[in-house]
Amino acid sequence: MPVTFCSGAGCLFRFAVPAIRIGSRMNAFWRVLKLLRPHLGAILCGLFFLVLSTSAMLIQPVLWQQMVDKVLIARQTQLFWPLIAGMLAAGLVGSVASGMRTWLIERVGQKFVLELRTCIYAHLQNQPLSFFHDRRTGDLLARVIGDVDTLQEVVINGTDQFLSNLLGMLGVAAVMIWYKWDLGLLTVAPVMFTFLLMYRYNMRVKPIYRAARDRLGDVSAKLAENLTGVQTIKAFAREDHAAEKLHETISMYFVQNLLGISLRVRYMPAVQFISFIGSIIMIGYGGYQILLGTMSLGVLLAYRGYWWHLYGPVYSIAGINDLLQRASAAGGRIFDLLDHQPELRDAENARELPKIEGRVSFENVAFGYPSRPQVITGLDLSVAPGTRVGLVGSSGAGKSTLLGLIPRFYDPLAGQIRIDGVDVRTITQHSLRRQIGMVLQESFLFNDSVLTNIRFGRPGASREDVQRAAADANAHDFIAQLPQGYDTVVGERGVKLSGGQRQRIAIARAFLADPAILLLDEATSAVEPESEAIIQQALERLMSGRTSFIVSHRLSVIRPCDVIVVIEGGKLAEQGTHAQLLQRGGIYAQMYRMQMGEEAHVISAPEI
Ligand code: ADP
Repeated sequence: MPVTFCSGAGCLFRFAVPAIRIGSRMNAFWRVLKLLRPHLGAILCGLFFLVLSTSAMLIQPVLWQQMVDKVLIARQTQLFWPLIAGMLAAGLVGSVASGMRTWLIERVGQKFVLELRTCIYAHLQNQPLSFFHDRRTGDLLARVIGDVDTLQEVVINGTDQFLSNLLGMLGVAAVMIWYKWDLGLLTVAPVMFTFLLMYRYNMRVKPIYRAARDRLGDVSAKLAENLTGVQTIKAFAREDHAAEKLHETISMYFVQNLLGISLRVRYMPAVQFISFIGSIIMIGYGGYQILLGTMSLGVLLAYRGYWWHLYGPVYSIAGINDLLQRASAAGGRIFDLLDHQPELRDAENARELPKIEGRVSFENVAFGYPSRPQVITGLDLSVAPGTRVGLVGSSGAGKSTLLGLIPRFYDPLAGQIRIDGVDVRTITQHSLRRQIGMVLQESFLFNDSVLTNIRFGRPGASREDVQRAAADANAHDFIAQLPQGYDTVVGERGVKLSGGQRQRIAIARAFLADPAILLLDEATSAVEPESEAIIQQALERLMSGRTSFIVSHRLSVIRPCDVIVVIEGGKLAEQGTHAQLLQRGGIYAQMYRMQMGEEAHVISAPEI
């Protein structure tokens, strides 16, 4: 099925990248050629200069033959200077044309890579969360960086060299056959065997190179995992174990590479040997003709010159062919990614969601993950604008999953989710998510300044707006005390800040975004106790006037909510205010009493 790049609504780079349709059944090499179609004009100009430089190169041996036979042997000295001038002119034209060709082709190659990387990133951004849950970040990085680099190397250098060598080789072969057909044919014939050899080599090396690229993806994924989990590795003193696991992964890559090398070391010398046979045939047959007196020494010298120009390109093509096979493996991995069509995307006629009040309703919603098909079943819930909804239930009951359905991270398998009465599947994801704010247990901060991290909530917000949002989030005072204030860089994932400080920056970000709906998933669970009250106060301020869904295992946080919903086994088990649920004496009442009992126990513990 054909695939369209960058055609989704979420493509950030539509201005730069044309929509490109690529047949997904084709092999990577032809698909790359198809991608190059918009650059056809520049490629044709490059080819023109290629023909010019090749012709200039081809004429040199003829001029040499004239010099030997006519000037040096037949003593026609009046031809000496014209022939020298001809050689110089051909050399100059050849050099200039070759420079022009390289510039044009390399420029096309660079543009191609720019467009491809941009396209892959745009395509990745269009994928739903589940796509990233099913893949390893390190492997995705290896595809976007390593595989594109490998492809780039060949598209830029390989295509240019492949074409110039092929053209040069064909030109030389034609001239050799035209000039003296018997000697020409005998010298050119072995070239056919090198192409047969190449074909057989490609068939065998292709799966090896693909496996090698996949193993490199494994290495990248393992490395990324170990580096991200370095704290856990150190905490458990498992450095040796982690290094051993990485070594195993790298060894698998090493083995695949060795397999490739063992094939290559047989292939390249075989090509070299065939070219050597061509040379023996030429010298043997040519020498015999000279002894018979049917051919001049000049002709043999010219053929000697042509031989270099024939087998030089053949040997280069054999090398480039190997590069092409590697690039084809890398290209295959890139196209696998690009062929993946997001299952969750905007409907054809999706419209923008206008500014909402914040009414949220779940109508007979059922949802499950592929590996766990029944997480939520038959859920009905209607929430009026500005309501605070507390979600409680045992771990794994489906609370976070329920929150993820509101911004349409996943689509329900049955039923509907409506925002202000509109089914979320009929509106653009972008316009929906712009009106929803999230504060999670671990808020992600970028390795950038505090200012930029808060401004992520509303790009273009002024410094004053950012400071106001920080003040509302109870974050301004601690930010002002940082070494460079709002310009302090927070480190990767905000590692240079405490958990409580990170959360307050995330809350400031949500203030700036000013969403109508708020999703708080264990927002205070991972923070130090002394920050909890101050964060809770900031959250109270943030929730004011917004429809808020609060997941927390701390019932003291849930208790003041307008509605408390108890989820058990993916079903809505109970619903009501704190007082109503206590009176009911069900699951919530039991959980509450248990927690209160535990707290009382903790408080009284020191006295025991
Ligand atoms: P809660 O927030 O109530 O603790 P979750 O909504 O996180 O529960 O998870 C509900 C169930 O779905 C759990 O059994 C969990 O293992 C499963 N689950 C959560 N996320 C995924 C996922 N991405 N893929 C497969 N199963 C998942």
